[in-house]
Amino acid sequence: MSEMLTSNLTNLQEALRPATLVAVSKTYPTEAIQKAYAIGQRDFGENKVQEMCDKAEQLPEDIRWHLIGHLQRNKVKYIVDFVHLIHSVDSLKLLKEIEKRAANAERTVNCLLQVHIAKEDTKFGLDEQELEQIAESTEVAKMQHVKICGLMGMATFTDNQAQVKSEFAYLKSLFDTLKMRNLNDVFDIKILSMGMSGDYQIAIEQGSNMVRIGSAIFGERN
Ligand SMILES: *Cc1c(COP(=O)(O)O)cnc(C)c1O
Repeated sequence: MSEMLTSNLTNLQEALRPATLVAVSKTYPTEAIQKAYAIGQRDFGENKVQEMCDKAEQLPEDIRWHLIGHLQRNKVKYIVDFVHLIHSVDSLKLLKEIEKRAANAERTVNCLLQVHIAKEDTKFGLDEQELEQIAESTEVAKMQHVKICGLMGMATFTDNQAQVKSEFAYLKSLFDTLKMRNLNDVFDIKILSMGMSGDYQIAIEQGSNMVRIGSAIFGERN
């Protein structure tokens, strides 16, 4: 099992370069993270605040923790001191809370805006109009403790590759447009987080530069 983890991870690190590989360690024990860490992996993703805090406490300080799951405003305070990148900013209200808590912590917190690109309506994220509201917001332009580094999205869970491809292409086009606008100092658009175990190849073809992969590294989740 542990040899499998090592070869899965090494192959992916190689195949995905220069994109950043975020190893999604949710539900897997700290031992699995330590094995990945031992062969150089530093970026890890978690979808639950409590689990990320518990693991961060037990593991080396130079791990870069990515919060990839839905984030409730009342939980921002628990991660603001150490989180490396929040992928799942899906409202202006949440961004305002991150700004407030980051100011208290005297940090700048890196964020991605999560865009809803899937057909399923269960997945969180901004629509194009809400994205535009954040881009144009004078309130956002004044923020001193958040950096908006790019976009994140999840494609529909389907075998239809053409659909997944078109959803990723759509997100890439939003990313390119936002990047070209050079809005203000709060925006430093450079990260496009898309692709998981089942669709990372399509995501990379469509211009992703950060993929979030769990089961293809650590094995099937229970
Ligand atoms: C769980 C999860 C992943 C990784 O999923 P795998 O299919 O295990 O690669 C990626 N992104 C998000 C937001 C997730 O919740």
